[in-house]
Amino acid sequence: MDHHLSPELEELRRTVEDFAHDVVAPKIGDFYERHEFPYEIVREMGRMGLFGLPFPEEYGGMGGDYLALGIALEELARVDSSVAITLEAGVSLGAMPIHLFGTEEQKRQWLPRLCSGEILGAFGLTEPEAGSDAGGTRTTARLDPETNEWVINGTKCFITNSGTDITGLVTVTAVTGHKEDGRPRISSIIVPSGTPGFTVAAPYSKVGWNASDTRELSFVDVRVPAANLLGEEGRGYAQFLRILDEGRIAISALATGLAQGCVDESVKYAKERHAFGRSIGAYQAIQFKIADMEMKAYTARLAWRDAASRLVSGESFKKEAALAKLYSSTIAVDNARDATQIHGGYGFMNEYPVARMWRDSKILEIGEGTSEVQRMLIARELGLTG
Ligand SMILES: Cc1cc2nc3c(=O)[nH]c(=O)nc-3n(C[C@H](O)[C@H](O)[C@H](O)COP(=O)(O)OP(=O)(O)OC[C@H]3O[C@@H](n4cnc5c(N)ncnc54)[C@H](O)[C@@H]3O)c2cc1C
Repeated sequence: MDHHLSPELEELRRTVEDFAHDVVAPKIGDFYERHEFPYEIVREMGRMGLFGLPFPEEYGGMGGDYLALGIALEELARVDSSVAITLEAGVSLGAMPIHLFGTEEQKRQWLPRLCSGEILGAFGLTEPEAGSDAGGTRTTARLDPETNEWVINGTKCFITNSGTDITGLVTVTAVTGHKEDGRPRISSIIVPSGTPGFTVAAPYSKVGWNASDTRELSFVDVRVPAANLLGEEGRGYAQFLRILDEGRIAISALATGLAQGCVDESVKYAKERHAFGRSIGAYQAIQFKIADMEMKAYTARLAWRDAASRLVSGESFKKEAALAKLYSSTIAVDNARDATQIHGGYGFMNEYPVARMWRDSKILEIGEGTSEVQRMLIARELGLTG
């Protein structure tokens, strides 16, 4: 793996870094406090082409790859995780399933608007009774032979980007039959926003990611054309495993950004804050803490970039993606705790970015596969089963 960025990727990194500092940083605190979705920032991200980063130009994308997406996510999350997760979910969970598994017609119908950020896509996998064990999906979809439509019934929970004014579709997983051994056949189906019977609840009141959109969805006799099936009938389980494998790299880049943001804020504060006649950054206890934080962010970056490079070059990346996600989310929580400590009482005040980072860090150990699930995947890749 070449750890050095190409000139194009370095330019992308700088562009997003400037955007995060000049546009996101001054505004995001207010959106976060009001638990409000930052439409103006998301629109600007769309204009910059961020939602199209890893997609081919013929569908309105930027012709980049997962490395490019990770670079953008890391730089955004260095400043704020709500906008970073909006991009991550929009690309990895909203548009990527259509790019990977959609028909030519589905790609032409949805990808250009998803790439430009005109609309957002969401992925509805988790249910109240099926999270880590997503194979336990209870939502059903029955094909009505008279109308040639899927009829969907069920509930999804915790779905990112699912209820904004610009949400265009949610891809949902549903049981469409059973195999000979009785196990469910799970399929993915595209449900456009506004389809009768498809309702989104009010946004959850969350601990963090307060400027991102997360909702419960319900489906009561929701009818969509048979052509809205994404990929083959009964292949939905394999599809979402692939989507989650890739998504872990993106979450890992996001976690690395948060961990690095904690270093940035801590270095700044340690130089400014004085105690006992010296800046607190002159004390070795603080210096060592920050040095360890930097070491962790650096190592996490190597991990996600290695997993992304493997994905881009067509090598196996499942274990590396799980390792990167497990490590980076763990150290993001560590760094957020240490950065808050370095800020003393001010670190507990919402006006300080580290308070937001502390609140935003915990979900990284839960979303797109908990840390326990990552350990299960890693152990399985090492040949441990049972
Ligand atoms: C803000 C937010 C946004 C989200 N966005 C989306 C989204 O866009 N789309 C979507 O589909 N989902 C989304 N999710 C859901 C998220 O992916 C799930 O919450 C996560 O996968 C865990 O599922 P669960 O909450 O049901 O926990 P559970 O699966 O019930 O797990 C509870 C605990 O048990 C542990 N556990 C479970 N099984 C085992 C085992 N075999 N061995 C050891 N420990 C185990 C887990 O690790 C966890 O600690 C989001 C969640 C949040 C909070």
